[in-house]
Amino acid sequence: MTVTVRFAPSPTGHIHIGNARTALFNWLFALKNKGRFIQRFDDTDIGRSKQEYADGILYDLHWLGIFPDAVDYQSRRFDTYDAAVERLKASGRLYPCYETAEELELKRKVQLSRRLPPVYGREALKLTEAEKADLEGEGRQPHWRFLLPNFRTDPFETERTEIHWNDVVRGEETVDLGSLSDPVLVRADGTYLYTLPSVADDIDMGVSHVIRGDDHVTNTGVQIALFQALGAEPPAFGHHNLLTTTSGEGLSKRTGALSISGLRESGIEPMAIASLAVLIGTSENVSAVRTMEELAENFDPASTSKSASKFDPAELGVLNRVLLHAMPFEEAQTRLLAFGVDGERAEPFWLAVRGNLDTLADAQKWWRIVNESPEQGEQLSDEDRDFVGEAFDLLPEEPWDGSTWKTWTGQVREKTGRKGKALFMPLRLALTGLHSGPELADLLPLLGREGTLARRP
Ligand code: GLU
Repeated sequence: MTVTVRFAPSPTGHIHIGNARTALFNWLFALKNKGRFIQRFDDTDIGRSKQEYADGILYDLHWLGIFPDAVDYQSRRFDTYDAAVERLKASGRLYPCYETAEELELKRKVQLSRRLPPVYGREALKLTEAEKADLEGEGRQPHWRFLLPNFRTDPFETERTEIHWNDVVRGEETVDLGSLSDPVLVRADGTYLYTLPSVADDIDMGVSHVIRGDDHVTNTGVQIALFQALGAEPPAFGHHNLLTTTSGEGLSKRTGALSISGLRESGIEPMAIASLAVLIGTSENVSAVRTMEELAENFDPASTSKSASKFDPAELGVLNRVLLHAMPFEEAQTRLLAFGVDGERAEPFWLAVRGNLDTLADAQKWWRIVNESPEQGEQLSDEDRDFVGEAFDLLPEEPWDGSTWKTWTGQVREKTGRKGKALFMPLRLALTGLHSGPELADLLPLLGREGTLARRP
């Protein structure tokens, strides 16, 4: 059987690093098992779902390096769900209920006050056809509940009914259907809640592994029962832990916290996000992994911790620097064009400056410094200015290469008696306008003799 996974967000906002974690777990699982990855938009909530969010999510996935084999939308698949509803009704597994939200709330309160579990008592199952007709005559529309298989013969005599699965991430899991209410699958206005479309699609799309956040563990018991009620073999399930902020709050699509688009705009590399999103909370050390293939090779969902992982955005900055400082020119080349970094000096320039970058866009500043003028601001003292003038008189003739700096400063040292910081810092300031930056030995050939002399203070 081909491994088939799906990433199924609701397109109600921008995805954040926690959502990306789910997408990446699925993508790496598919890569590792040579499987298929389906991008499915759970957009049955027509009011809150937006095409622009779906487009944004696809863009974010591509940017991260995730390329779905297929893309589908639940809003285009209502026929499948209607067919599933008919099947469940025909087998007596979906039954109409007429209670209003207020009536249900009141029942729950009474149960709680009697120290009973607040589980729906299946009262609607007792309604006769005539009573149902009366209720509908009053203008009530039914919502529909799935009759859980948690009884032998009498649905009012529920019993402990364990559903087991071997979770790809968490290992052996058990949910007791006996302690759950029959879930509502269809609302009174005919709209679908998440459960039925999700299961109907997983069946229809041949999903072999459902990998998602551990906020869905309890749903899995119900969903396995629903797969079976629809005559299908349930897929395998995997539930990864969720990410929280350092203060322990959950991430939300709606607040835009740590959105992928925001991180992209602030210059974070996709593999910095992927590395952290996948390795955080696993037994592996978090390190900057250069390619998705490498990440997939070592991917082991079972090594993920069961408790929530605190996520510190500062770690992204660290990983970003590690990736940039070792990034081969070929990988940066096309993106550097946007900053005008082109021509035969582009590669030596990149190799000279990459070790100083926090984000790739910082290269723009250094390209300007090399090609136009030093950064403005810092003034040399009179004494240093004289020293730099003297040093510039000693500049060797071209051709220049990586050894020119050493030859030149050797002569300057001999002639002026200056050494160490007193020698280098005024030269660095004159050449770049900054106290720190790439090796001057690498920058000097990029400036060239003419470019250097133009910086004479
Ligand atoms: N739309 C659901 C969610 O975003 C999908 C859950 C699932 O993967 O089954 O939580």
